[in-house]
Amino acid sequence: MFEEIKERVCLANKNLPQLGLVCWTWGNVSEVTPDRHYLVIKPSGVEYDDMSPTDMVVVRMSDGAVVEGNLRASTDTPTHIELYKKFPQVGGITHTHSINATAFAQANVSVPALGTTHADYFHGAIPCTRGLRPDEVNDGYEFHTGQVIVETFREHKISPDEIPGVLVANHGVFAWGKDALESVYHASALEIVAETALKTLFLNKQSRLSQFILDKHYSRKHGKGAYYGQGKK
Ligand SMILES: [Zn+2]
Repeated sequence: MFEEIKERVCLANKNLPQLGLVCWTWGNVSEVTPDRHYLVIKPSGVEYDDMSPTDMVVVRMSDGAVVEGNLRASTDTPTHIELYKKFPQVGGITHTHSINATAFAQANVSVPALGTTHADYFHGAIPCTRGLRPDEVNDGYEFHTGQVIVETFREHKISPDEIPGVLVANHGVFAWGKDALESVYHASALEIVAETALKTLFLNKQSRLSQFILDKHYSRKHGKGAYYGQGKK
Protein backbone atom coordinates (compact mmCIF):
# COMPACT_ATOMS: atom_id res chain seq x y z
CA MET A 1 0.00 0.00 0.00
CA PHE A 2 2.90 2.37 0.73
CA GLU A 3 5.25 1.18 -2.07
CA GLU A 4 4.66 4.02 -4.51
CA ILE A 5 5.08 6.68 -1.81
CA LYS A 6 8.22 4.96 -0.45
CA GLU A 7 9.79 5.10 -3.92
CA ARG A 8 8.93 8.78 -4.32
CA VAL A 9 10.17 9.68 -0.82
CA CYS A 10 13.43 7.76 -1.35
CA LEU A 11 14.03 9.49 -4.70
CA ALA A 12 13.18 12.89 -3.18
CA ASN A 13 15.67 12.32 -0.32
CA LYS A 14 18.39 11.30 -2.78
CA ASN A 15 17.75 14.56 -4.65
CA LEU A 16 18.84 16.62 -1.62
CA PRO A 17 22.64 16.05 -1.88
CA GLN A 18 22.43 16.02 -5.70
CA LEU A 19 20.95 19.54 -5.59
CA GLY A 20 23.56 20.70 -3.07
CA LEU A 21 20.88 21.26 -0.43
CA VAL A 22 22.37 18.99 2.24
CA CYS A 23 25.71 17.56 3.38
CA TRP A 24 26.09 14.23 5.19
CA THR A 25 22.68 13.17 6.56
CA TRP A 26 21.40 16.66 7.43
CA GLY A 27 17.99 16.80 5.87
CA ASN A 28 14.88 14.80 5.30
CA VAL A 29 11.83 14.50 3.08
CA SER A 30 8.42 13.00 3.83
CA GLU A 31 5.07 12.51 2.12
CA VAL A 32 1.66 11.97 3.69
CA THR A 33 -0.78 9.31 2.44
CA PRO A 34 -3.90 10.58 0.60
CA ASP A 35 -6.11 9.68 3.61
CA ARG A 36 -3.62 11.60 5.85
CA HIS A 37 -3.44 8.72 8.36
CA TYR A 38 0.26 7.93 7.71
CA LEU A 39 3.42 9.60 6.53
CA VAL A 40 6.46 8.05 4.87
CA ILE A 41 9.79 9.58 5.94
CA LYS A 42 13.55 9.10 5.68
CA PRO A 43 15.14 6.92 8.37
CA SER A 44 17.28 8.73 10.94
CA GLY A 45 21.01 9.15 10.29
CA VAL A 46 21.26 7.01 7.12
CA GLU A 47 23.48 8.10 4.19
CA TYR A 48 21.52 9.08 1.08
CA ASP A 49 23.63 6.85 -1.22
CA ASP A 50 22.87 3.78 0.87
CA MET A 51 19.10 4.29 1.06
CA SER A 52 16.53 2.22 -0.80
CA PRO A 53 12.72 2.56 -0.85
CA THR A 54 12.38 -0.34 1.61
CA ASP A 55 14.36 1.67 4.21
CA MET A 56 11.69 4.40 4.28
CA VAL A 57 9.74 4.46 7.55
CA VAL A 58 5.94 4.54 7.73
CA VAL A 59 4.66 6.51 10.73
CA ARG A 60 1.07 6.78 12.00
CA MET A 61 -0.08 10.41 12.17
CA SER A 62 -2.27 10.01 15.26
CA ASP A 63 0.45 8.84 17.69
CA GLY A 64 3.77 8.91 15.80
CA ALA A 65 4.18 5.12 16.03
CA VAL A 66 6.27 3.34 13.36
CA VAL A 67 4.00 0.88 11.56
CA GLU A 68 6.41 -0.26 8.80
CA GLY A 69 10.20 -0.25 8.45
CA ASN A 70 13.18 -1.65 10.38
CA LEU A 71 14.92 1.67 11.03
CA ARG A 72 14.12 4.60 13.31
CA ALA A 73 12.25 7.50 11.69
CA SER A 74 13.95 10.87 11.26
CA THR A 75 14.18 12.77 14.56
CA ASP A 76 12.31 15.64 12.84
CA THR A 77 9.19 13.47 12.34
CA PRO A 78 7.09 15.34 14.98
CA THR A 79 7.70 18.61 13.06
CA HIS A 80 6.45 16.97 9.84
CA ILE A 81 3.37 15.56 11.63
CA GLU A 82 2.46 18.96 13.11
CA LEU A 83 2.74 20.65 9.69
CA TYR A 84 0.59 17.97 7.98
CA LYS A 85 -2.06 18.37 10.71
CA LYS A 86 -2.22 22.17 10.54
CA PHE A 87 -1.61 22.66 6.78
CA PRO A 88 -4.12 20.21 5.24
CA GLN A 89 -3.25 21.23 1.68
CA VAL A 90 0.39 20.09 2.10
CA GLY A 91 1.28 16.62 0.75
CA GLY A 92 5.09 16.59 1.05
CA ILE A 93 7.68 18.28 3.30
CA THR A 94 11.43 18.85 2.96
CA HIS A 95 13.81 19.95 5.72
CA THR A 96 17.32 21.22 4.95
CA HIS A 97 20.10 23.37 6.38
CA SER A 98 20.95 24.74 2.90
CA ILE A 99 23.63 27.35 3.37
CA ASN A 100 22.22 30.63 2.10
CA ALA A 101 18.70 30.12 3.45
CA THR A 102 20.19 29.02 6.78
CA ALA A 103 22.31 32.20 6.87
CA PHE A 104 19.02 34.18 6.83
CA ALA A 105 17.61 31.85 9.52
CA GLN A 106 20.69 32.32 11.71
CA ALA A 107 20.41 36.09 11.26
CA ASN A 108 16.69 35.87 12.19
CA VAL A 109 15.83 37.68 8.96
CA SER A 110 13.09 36.82 6.42
CA VAL A 111 14.11 36.42 2.77
CA PRO A 112 12.67 39.55 1.12
CA ALA A 113 11.08 39.34 -2.33
CA LEU A 114 13.58 41.22 -4.49
CA GLY A 115 13.10 39.75 -7.95
CA THR A 116 10.87 37.86 -10.33
CA THR A 117 12.42 34.42 -9.66
CA HIS A 118 11.35 34.81 -6.05
CA ALA A 119 7.89 36.00 -7.15
CA ASP A 120 7.44 32.95 -9.42
CA TYR A 121 7.39 30.66 -6.35
CA PHE A 122 6.78 32.79 -3.25
CA HIS A 123 4.11 35.49 -3.13
CA GLY A 124 6.03 37.70 -0.69
CA ALA A 125 8.85 37.45 1.83
CA ILE A 126 9.74 33.99 3.14
CA PRO A 127 9.23 34.45 6.88
CA CYS A 128 11.58 33.54 9.72
CA THR A 129 9.98 32.17 12.91
CA ARG A 130 10.63 33.53 16.38
CA GLY A 131 13.21 31.70 18.46
CA LEU A 132 11.94 28.89 20.69
CA ARG A 133 11.72 29.40 24.46
CA PRO A 134 13.74 27.14 26.80
CA ASP A 135 10.61 25.20 27.82
CA GLU A 136 9.76 24.60 24.14
CA VAL A 137 13.27 23.25 23.48
CA ASN A 138 13.57 21.14 26.64
CA ASP A 139 10.31 19.27 26.14
CA GLY A 140 8.88 18.38 22.72
CA TYR A 141 11.50 20.32 20.74
CA GLU A 142 10.61 18.93 17.30
CA PHE A 143 6.85 19.27 17.93
CA HIS A 144 7.33 22.89 19.04
CA THR A 145 9.39 23.57 15.91
CA GLY A 146 6.28 22.62 13.90
CA GLN A 147 4.09 24.71 16.18
CA VAL A 148 6.19 27.86 15.82
CA ILE A 149 6.02 27.53 12.02
CA VAL A 150 2.21 27.32 12.15
CA GLU A 151 2.14 30.28 14.59
CA THR A 152 4.28 32.36 12.20
CA PHE A 153 1.89 31.77 9.28
CA ARG A 154 -1.21 32.46 11.42
CA GLU A 155 0.14 35.61 13.05
CA HIS A 156 1.31 37.13 9.80
CA LYS A 157 -1.80 35.87 7.96
CA ILE A 158 0.32 34.06 5.38
CA SER A 159 -1.14 31.21 3.31
CA PRO A 160 1.10 28.12 3.11
CA ASP A 161 -0.13 27.84 -0.50
CA GLU A 162 1.34 31.20 -1.44
CA ILE A 163 4.58 30.87 0.56
CA PRO A 164 5.57 27.16 0.40
CA GLY A 165 8.48 27.42 2.81
CA VAL A 166 9.79 28.98 6.00
CA LEU A 167 13.00 29.68 7.91
CA VAL A 168 13.15 28.35 11.46
CA ALA A 169 15.17 30.85 13.51
CA ASN A 170 18.81 29.83 14.02
CA HIS A 171 18.09 26.46 12.42
CA GLY A 172 17.17 26.00 8.75
CA VAL A 173 14.47 25.47 6.15
CA PHE A 174 11.17 23.66 5.97
CA ALA A 175 9.52 23.69 2.54
CA TRP A 176 6.42 21.90 1.29
CA GLY A 177 4.40 21.04 -1.81
CA LYS A 178 1.70 18.72 -3.15
CA ASP A 179 4.04 15.72 -2.78
CA ALA A 180 7.61 14.85 -1.68
CA LEU A 181 9.20 15.82 -5.01
CA GLU A 182 7.48 19.21 -5.19
CA SER A 183 8.60 19.98 -1.63
CA VAL A 184 12.22 19.38 -2.71
CA TYR A 185 11.67 21.66 -5.70
CA HIS A 186 10.42 24.41 -3.40
CA ALA A 187 13.33 23.87 -0.96
CA SER A 188 15.69 24.27 -3.92
CA ALA A 189 13.88 27.42 -5.15
CA LEU A 190 14.07 28.82 -1.61
CA GLU A 191 17.84 28.24 -1.47
CA ILE A 192 18.35 29.86 -4.88
CA VAL A 193 16.31 32.98 -4.04
CA ALA A 194 18.05 33.24 -0.64
CA GLU A 195 21.49 33.17 -2.29
CA THR A 196 20.40 35.74 -4.86
CA ALA A 197 18.85 38.00 -2.20
CA LEU A 198 22.02 37.84 -0.11
CA LYS A 199 24.13 38.97 -3.09
CA THR A 200 21.57 41.61 -4.07
CA LEU A 201 21.54 43.11 -0.56
CA PHE A 202 25.34 43.13 -0.57
CA LEU A 203 25.28 45.29 -3.72
CA ASN A 204 22.32 47.45 -2.70
CA LYS A 205 20.69 47.34 0.74
CA GLN A 206 17.76 49.42 -0.58
CA SER A 207 16.81 46.94 -3.34
CA ARG A 208 13.03 46.33 -3.45
CA LEU A 209 10.54 44.58 -5.78
CA SER A 210 7.35 46.46 -6.62
CA GLN A 211 4.13 44.82 -5.43
CA PHE A 212 2.61 44.89 -8.95
CA ILE A 213 5.54 42.88 -10.38
CA LEU A 214 5.40 40.46 -7.43
CA ASP A 215 1.67 39.96 -8.07
CA LYS A 216 2.10 39.63 -11.84
CA HIS A 217 4.82 36.97 -11.64
CA TYR A 218 3.06 34.98 -8.94
CA SER A 219 -0.35 35.08 -10.62
CA ARG A 220 0.87 34.07 -14.10
CA LYS A 221 2.10 30.74 -12.62
CA HIS A 222 -0.47 30.11 -9.88
CA GLY A 223 -4.22 30.31 -9.38
CA LYS A 224 -7.15 30.78 -11.71
CA GLY A 225 -5.60 33.09 -14.29
CA ALA A 226 -2.27 31.20 -14.61
CA TYR A 227 -0.91 31.06 -18.13
CA TYR A 228 2.77 30.05 -17.67
CA GLY A 229 3.88 26.70 -19.15
CA GLN A 230 1.83 24.27 -21.26
CA GLY A 231 -1.24 24.02 -19.03
CA LYS A 232 -2.86 20.86 -17.72
CA LYS A 233 -3.58 18.17 -20.31
ZN1 LIG B 1 17.46 20.57 11.14
